Amino acid sequence: MPSPSPWEEKLARAKTLWKYRDPGPHAAYTLSDRHADFYFNSDAFASDPALVNAAADDLIVRLRKTGITGKAFWIVSYSGAVSASLVLASVVSQKLNKRLAYMDIRTDAINFPIKDGDAALIVTDDIYTGGSIRKIVNILSDRKVEILAPILTVANFFGAGQLDDLKIMSLIDRTLETWPSASCPLCQAGSQAIPARKEWPKLFSVT
Ligand SMILES: [Zn+2]
Repeated sequence: MPSPSPWEEKLARAKTLWKYRDPGPHAAYTLSDRHADFYFNSDAFASDPALVNAAADDLIVRLRKTGITGKAFWIVSYSGAVSASLVLASVVSQKLNKRLAYMDIRTDAINFPIKDGDAALIVTDDIYTGGSIRKIVNILSDRKVEILAPILTVANFFGAGQLDDLKIMSLIDRTLETWPSASCPLCQAGSQAIPARKEWPKLFSVT
């Protein structure tokens, strides 16, 4: 197994990322019946201004090497019940002085005047299935907007370095293993399952 990236260490130290330690509790997802030994809490990340600032700076340094920052483009993200993506995208848009837009994931609408001939750079907190990003790409492609690569994200859990034909630029890159609660090996070993975001500090108590 490769050693964790410096950003994985950094997010773990700031308690925005949690990893299982025997004999501690483990994480339960609230939106699906799955458990895990690793969890990135993007709400905790978004609540830490120094961390968001540092992540945006690091992503921008990497983005500048691609040479696209001189172009005019929109920063596009998404927002919904969890809005950490938009928090990061907002900081990136301010640092690059680019306009900011987002898709509301409750309505799948991008209510901003991005139009034919514009370009868009997608910024998100993390990527799991890529479903929301594909929706953004579809909406903007219908409007004949050029989608720029790379997609910028803090944590790439997608399992590949690109989503369809768009390269992903991330600070953390790893595959996640999760289990249905009924067949969770950590539950079977006697570890307590904790709803990760709801009881976040509890995950860090090893008793
Ligand atoms: Zn479990």
